[in-house]
Amino acid sequence: MKLKFLGASGTVTGSCYFLRGENTGVMIDCGMFQGVKEVDELNFAKPNIDFGKLNAIVLTHAHLDHCGRLPLLLKYGFDGAVYMNEPTRALAEIVMLDSAKIAREDATNTMYEEDDVYRFLKKVVLVDYHSPFEIGDFEVTMYDAGHILGSTSLLFVEKSTGKKLLFSGDLGNTPEPLLMPTEIVKSADFVVMESTYGDEKHPAGDEADIIAQIVADAERVGGVIIIPSFSIQRAQELLYVFDQLKKDGRVSEETVVLLDSPMALRTTEVYKDYPGLYSQKLKTQAKKDDPFDFPGLMLCDNVEKSKQIKNYPGTKVIIAGSGMMTGGRILHHAINYLPDPKNTLIFVGFQAEGTLGRDIKSGKKEINIWGNNIEVRAEIKEIKTMSSHADQDQLKSWLSKIDGVKKIYLTHGEDIARLVLKEIIKNDYGDSVDVKMPNLDEEFEL
Ligand SMILES: [Zn+2]
Repeated sequence: MKLKFLGASGTVTGSCYFLRGENTGVMIDCGMFQGVKEVDELNFAKPNIDFGKLNAIVLTHAHLDHCGRLPLLLKYGFDGAVYMNEPTRALAEIVMLDSAKIAREDATNTMYEEDDVYRFLKKVVLVDYHSPFEIGDFEVTMYDAGHILGSTSLLFVEKSTGKKLLFSGDLGNTPEPLLMPTEIVKSADFVVMESTYGDEKHPAGDEADIIAQIVADAERVGGVIIIPSFSIQRAQELLYVFDQLKKDGRVSEETVVLLDSPMALRTTEVYKDYPGLYSQKLKTQAKKDDPFDFPGLMLCDNVEKSKQIKNYPGTKVIIAGSGMMTGGRILHHAINYLPDPKNTLIFVGFQAEGTLGRDIKSGKKEINIWGNNIEVRAEIKEIKTMSSHADQDQLKSWLSKIDGVKKIYLTHGEDIARLVLKEIIKNDYGDSVDVKMPNLDEEFEL
């Protein structure tokens, strides 16, 4: 079999792989490139494969950088089945429709339209965790990656040779509050492994304690807290943390928490549909009451409610997208609140190279939003424990439990991260394992 790398090769975004057996071609993910300078070029370029040989697609999970280019594939002639599990389908619909909406609002962007998304969704075949299914030359099984609701690692077995190829998908920061732990896959010959935090260890610490402290400080001076958040997983984690803090009286009754993201609202509804996938602790909690709702939570499901936010007096916490500040309502709040030193911005997720979030996180004191020069005087904080990606130790531990690994392809990480991880793996395994850092469009014979 042959494996070609069509994205996430030296970047964190744009995940896309093409696997070819004797008679079968399967694409694994086809996500959007984000943040990097050549982003438009990369997103609009037709993936460098023979579309006549593409029979099916399998989606690991619903993040934009994994599913964002999928509807485009219809334009290139793809007409096969698309395999994913049910929560992934529900979330991917939200994500791809949002992406179509953003394209519609930007005249220079003709990525795809809502109709393309619906046409694409008609191709979906639902599969479950642990239920092997066949795609021509391959048998495929999904395992829970513990990263977001429905996230998977995918094990491909080539039927004629018995060779096993495992795609890690994005691996979760396991154990984490909302989801089941990342599942172990017992054996594989080849592993395509994410390396987002290959060069970092998440610090110890409890995010609820850190957030409680930041809110207490803000309450003392009447400051506003803004949190750029991803709509999937991170927003629900934040709601769950505030649900606990409000219950325990660690956040004042008067402090309002505003979820200013229609996409996060829709996503939260999907999370509520799958309590069977919750962690044990959350399952118990969810039987008692809604873990994503509490007194003092305001949901801004339309633009009018969003505009009203600045009229709320006193301390408030505003959770809004996008997570890396590349667009969305968070930019309005950044304009309103970043110039005041009483206020605080909290980063709770990865900030990719080339994004406004990364600039602010790196200490830039003057930024430009829609032609306005904004001075950053607010305090900038970062909570690293909230990552939904495995860190270096967790990546190592995940890998160590897989028997028989001969080759590892490091993807989904900036070059420095995968280089560090490569060295660590080389140290641990010596010459018994070959570690590759594939380039875009590079192909390997497995
Ligand atoms: Zn992801």
